[in-house]
Amino acid sequence: MKAGVIAVQGDVSEHADAVRRAAASHGVDVAVVEVRDAGVVPGCDVLLMPGGESTTISRLLREEGIDEEIRNHVAADKPLLATCAGLIVASRDAKDDRVSTLDVLDVSVDRNAFGRQADSFEAPLDVTGLDEPFPGVFIRSPVIDEVGEGVEVLAQWDGDPVAVKQGSVIATSFHPELTPDSRIHDLTFFGQEHASTQDGEGVEA
Ligand code: GLN
Repeated sequence: MKAGVIAVQGDVSEHADAVRRAAASHGVDVAVVEVRDAGVVPGCDVLLMPGGESTTISRLLREEGIDEEIRNHVAADKPLLATCAGLIVASRDAKDDRVSTLDVLDVSVDRNAFGRQADSFEAPLDVTGLDEPFPGVFIRSPVIDEVGEGVEVLAQWDGDPVAVKQGSVIATSFHPELTPDSRIHDLTFFGQEHASTQDGEGVEA
């Protein structure tokens, strides 16, 4: 399996480690590539878009021409995990002109909305598809304030959706890559039939 971590900015190495752990637990070989230029995403089976700073990430994706490749990846029903700033970039609308969203996930977000209450916090989250609560690490996280019809809410905190799924895309307001727990990566890449091995065969969870 080839996993591309969008690496124009943000916590890239943590995502690379998490996808390696998830793949290892399924006995799947994974090659992780850092995506900084156009031309890499089309060769990836799965993609990760990290937390960081959404204004910067979206600008660099557009300048490099990677934005269109991510849209094509999702249109081809291939898995994408987007966390925090990644969720903002993936959304339909971030209500902020400085962020050009990819519109691969039918939600609107309010940037930094959790951050107004507390800059960062950790909370145990009940996530659909996981048996035990997941440690949610929130750092100046966005609030998802509108969810489209095709979007499933996987987890909520304080009445707001904080993990959502639409087709092959899973996005979280929190940072699963900043915990040793790789179950959200596992759910995104192996909890669905899209995950593929290096030789292209399907992998069952
Ligand atoms: N609030 C940040 C933004 O708008 C995201 C924070 C994060 O990824 N930890 O880009």
